[in-house]
Amino acid sequence: MILSGKIVAAEIQKKIGETISRLPSPPGLAVILVGDHPSSRSYVNMKERALAQVGIRSFANHLSANTSEANLLKLIEELNHKSEIDGILVQLPLPSHINSIKVIEMIDPEKDVDGFHPLNMGKLLLGLDDGFIPCTPLGIQTLLRRYQIEVEGKRAVIVGRSQVVGKPLAALLMQNKPGLNATVTVVHSKSENLESLVASADILIAAIGRARFIKAEMVKKGAVVIDVGINREKDSASPKGYRLVGDVDFNEVEKKCSAITPVPNGVGPMTVAMLLSNTLVSYQRRHP
Ligand code: NDP
Repeated sequence: MILSGKIVAAEIQKKIGETISRLPSPPGLAVILVGDHPSSRSYVNMKERALAQVGIRSFANHLSANTSEANLLKLIEELNHKSEIDGILVQLPLPSHINSIKVIEMIDPEKDVDGFHPLNMGKLLLGLDDGFIPCTPLGIQTLLRRYQIEVEGKRAVIVGRSQVVGKPLAALLMQNKPGLNATVTVVHSKSENLESLVASADILIAAIGRARFIKAEMVKKGAVVIDVGINREKDSASPKGYRLVGDVDFNEVEKKCSAITPVPNGVGPMTVAMLLSNTLVSYQRRHP
């Protein structure tokens, strides 16, 4: 079975758009992009398109690559105080002269719709529901739920321990809440016995950033495979000169697993849909 993030995200976006059309004012999201890295630019374009589709006002703040850290912190502080702005998104990665932890900490946690602020990360770890859950983990949970994939009691193996995917996803899947309660293992570049850990997964999540890293022989028969990776591969036949491939060798793994997300149109659109959803939630909390 193909787990279509594209279809599920479109359903979610439609509902969000309907809800927003009944609100007295549109929710607002400030999008900060520093520099012009091509993939960051294309993620921001994608997000801004989706915001417009559902009726969220987007406040674009595209800054040059040599913007100082102080300038960026000042901008965030101003946005924190603007009542028409419900969410602040800083597209990562930031240029190396800027301390991204400092920048994320400057965002008002109540407007931190990416869920990366330490307060929201802490709330996720504690299982508190009044924070924000990072969009990719939340998108994965939503996709699993929509396809009625049993998570409770299952062995979930996450390859990758980044702040944006692996760590928050581990915290989410292990929560003691209905529909979660997975037994979670997190694997990274220093893990011994990676292959046997991966092979033990009922639910395998690959968030590594290496094209086709997960091969069919590594995957347990009947496993559910979630491919977070987005890797650019040269493709002279494509007008863009490249194509996107995941961290999973899709063609081979698909034959062995019970369900799998494609790349593109799997986790990516779910991440964007959860950004819209978190922004709407922020608006609703701020306008009780
Ligand atoms: P990071 O580079 O921050 O993290 C990669 C993780 O993979 C690290 O924990 C690293 O281990 C681990 N890793 C790397 N090589 C190996 C290896 N050989 N064996 C085991 N573990 C390894 O990446 P992100 O989490 O930010 O992103 C991962 C992928 O997901 C990327 O392709 C990214 O583009 C994509 N992505 C997709 C999103 C979506 O919406 N679909 C959203 C966010 C990311 P260690 O910690 O030891 O270095």
